[in-house]
Amino acid sequence: MKQLEESLKEKNLRVTNARKIIFDILKNSERPLSPKNVCDELSNLSVSNADQASVYRNLVLFSKIGLAHKLDSGKYTVCQLENDRTKRHIHIIMCCTECMGVYELNEKKTQTYMLSKKIINSIKQLNHISSLTFSGVCEACDN
Ligand SMILES: [Zn+2]
Ligand SMILES: [Zn+2]
Repeated sequence: MKQLEESLKEKNLRVTNARKIIFDILKNSERPLSPKNVCDELSNLSVSNADQASVYRNLVLFSKIGLAHKLDSGKYTVCQLENDRTKRHIHIIMCCTECMGVYELNEKKTQTYMLSKKIINSIKQLNHISSLTFSGVCEACDN
């Protein structure tokens, strides 16, 4: 939970109960989730006032501040680089079309990582960090 609270406070955003629950749902899911999936989970947990518009807004917010990533499918996944406090670099994500698993590349020595870091560091008021998404079949499924 620290991850969420620190990131929100860093941006002077409130740590609301709704944000905590939505982030938890996303984090505990093995698969990326659409705003509707998150809403369904919320109603399963019998959380009232779980309207899709506010879920959507919070998911967009999470991806804006680097807590989550929006994939090409329109679904959201939590950033897997938990220990990377800054997250000021391009996030490279692989999506498996067989198991629907999402794998985030955690390799800081790649040229792509260093180049993205260089570009991002030269931007003065950074308000959005993108991710690079690849899809295909993961190693576990390819046998
Ligand atoms: Zn990430
Ligand atoms: Zn797979």
